[in-house]
Formats: sequence, structure tokens, C-alpha cells
Amino acid sequence: MGFATDCIHAGQEPDPATGAVTIPIYQTSTYVQEGIGQHKGYEYARTHNPTRRALERNLAALEGGADAYCYASGMAATNAVLTFVKAGQRVVVGDNVYGGTHRLFTKILANYGVEFAFLDASDAARLDAEAGRFDMLWIESPTNPLMKVCDIAALAAAARKRNAILVVDNTFMSPFFQRPLALGADIVVHSTTKFLNGHSDSVGGVAVVKTEAHAKWLQYVQNAAGAILSPFDAWLVLRGTKTLALRMPRHEQNAAVVARFLRDQPKVSKVNWPGFEDHEGHEIQKRQATGYGALISFDLGSREAADRFLREVRLCSLGESLGGVETLISHPATMTHAGYTQAERDALGIGNGLVRISVGCEDPEDLVADLRRAAGVL
Ligand code: PLP
Repeated sequence: MGFATDCIHAGQEPDPATGAVTIPIYQTSTYVQEGIGQHKGYEYARTHNPTRRALERNLAALEGGADAYCYASGMAATNAVLTFVKAGQRVVVGDNVYGGTHRLFTKILANYGVEFAFLDASDAARLDAEAGRFDMLWIESPTNPLMKVCDIAALAAAARKRNAILVVDNTFMSPFFQRPLALGADIVVHSTTKFLNGHSDSVGGVAVVKTEAHAKWLQYVQNAAGAILSPFDAWLVLRGTKTLALRMPRHEQNAAVVARFLRDQPKVSKVNWPGFEDHEGHEIQKRQATGYGALISFDLGSREAADRFLREVRLCSLGESLGGVETLISHPATMTHAGYTQAERDALGIGNGLVRISVGCEDPEDLVADLRRAAGVL
């Protein structure tokens, strides 16, 4: 089936009990059993839930994976995937990832004997030459918030050489624009909170895998550690993915309008959007994805200028998160990337004047009018 058809139907056969077209929210903690060991495949809701399972089958189809497991947040999915590494092993991480991922790796998991090394993953040849031994490679592409593009196929080859797992956090692109498993990645992670849900009304995460062995372990971890996605959240994300193929092109068209507008502003010093032909990663993006997405970052030079601008926007909502139908705007240095030290942010180029915008599905002229007014106070 085509992508849009899968969005609407994959994993969502009509309910066998009633014929309900929409998967019901199975809000139950347990299931009646007929006798010892005799049941319908459902014993306890941490282990199995039909609403959650429908979403997992839906997301596995959209990413072209063998299976998927959903967790209580994007971070819970990340944490589950990190159980593939053990004490004494080494993880190479793209140096420009979501601040919460950096925090989990450096402040928590590093305490358990796993070594984390942060390298620029937007230069795959250099990473391959300089990374040394590793057991897992973790990247985002485009990166958060600098929008650098990483060559997923080249990094998959570097990982394969070392018998390592390549994990791609595909939250920014969604499977509508980019399918990392087809490019050689082993596991795809999403914060479903973002484009997959699309309506800023649920927090969740998913890990999609290529092999049955990886699927088996992730299901084991989901049940054993218990950071499960609730049935209601699973239902909300399922409702979101039905319109993913409708929303993403609109997000991107609007982003193109906003990116061009920002680039024309004299007080905006740099606009990072891979859709620009002169963006450093444009050619790789064109090759490995079918679009450029709706995330843009731009530099206003100082925290004071960023603050003035962000206080002035009305239609764009100042807040954490991204991927909703409403345009969300944020200040990475104090919000998503506050977990990095100032020195780490400076080294990466995440300045105090950097602003990130997740362009929504509103009328583009209304977004431009809002941003124009805000640019007036710079
Ligand atoms: N990955 C990326 C790229 C993100 O932007 C985020 C959250 O902003 C996460 C992972 C974590 O997801 P969650 O907030 O659902 O735990």
C-alpha cells in the first residue's frame, strides 16, 4: 500500500468485537482468563494492550520496520534502546542532539560503565576515520537545533564495519520525509509527541526495529521496565498518524515561506533550513529524504534580541516542543539545550541569540505578518 493508505489503515483493522472503524481505547488493567494459562493472548496491560499494539503496528509500517514498541515518552524510548549496550561498551553520539538525550547519556547512563563520545556526525568520513571502536552510533538528521544534515547511508556503513548498531532519531523528519531503516539504520526512534501526534496533546515515544531479535528485546524491556504508552495516548497518536501525509507537505510549504522571509530580514544573521540550495547539507538531504521539513533555526545575535523578538510574537507560541499544527517557537540555549553547558553550546554554535521555529499549518501570510511585527522590535 502507499504511504497515505498505510497512515490511515496499517494496524487498524476494524475492531473484531464490534466492527468499530476506529480502534477503541482499551482502558483496562487486566483481562479475564478462562483457566490457568488459558487466555486470548492478553494477560496484563503493561505487557499487552490492543490500542498500543495497533499504534505499534501502524508505526512499524510507516517506517518500514519489522516491528515497533511504544513508550511513555521519547526519552523513555531512547532509554529502552540504550539497553542494547552494556557496561564496557562505547556509544558514539552526534554532537548536536536533543538536550534531553545528551543529559540522559552524560548524567545518567554514563554512571553505568558505558562510555559516550560526542562527535560531529555531519562529516561521516571524518567520523569514520576518527571515531575508533564503538558499539552503537546515535544520530539525528537534521540535527536539533542547528539543522546539520548527516549522511545516514555513510554512517550506516561506518557502523556496520564495526558490527555496531546505528540508531536514528527521526523525530524532525517523520517517516513521511525520511525512512532511515531503508538507508541502512538498524533502529529508528521518535518522540511521538511531535509530528506523529501532530496536535500537541500527547507525550510518547517509539522505537522501530528491523530484526525480530531487536523486536523481542525491546518488547521484553517494555514489559520489564514498564515505561509503557497509555491507551489514550496511543489512540491520540493513531489519530495523528492518519493525517500525517496531509500535514507534512503543508508544514513544509509554510516552512519554505517562513525561511525565505527570515533570510530577507537585515537583523537575522543566519537561517538554518536544509531546503536552501546553499545549505551545506542540501545535496545529502535531497538524496536521502523526500523533503526538508518544518524546523528552522536562526540567529538574532544576542539573548536580549531573542527575548525581545520572542515576547513580541502572538500567533507563534513560545514554548518547548515542535511538530504540532500550531507554530511553536523556542530558545534552544535556555529550553531544549539547557542541559548542555554554556561552553558546550558555544563550541557547537548554539548561541544565546539562536531561535528555533517549528512551522505549523496556519495560513503562511498570517505567520509572516506575526514574524514581521516581531522583527520590528529588533
Ligand atoms: N528527540 C528529539 C529530536 C526531541 O526534540 C525530543 C523532545 O523534544 C525528544 C527526542 C524527547 O522526546 P519526549 O519529549 O517525548 O520525551
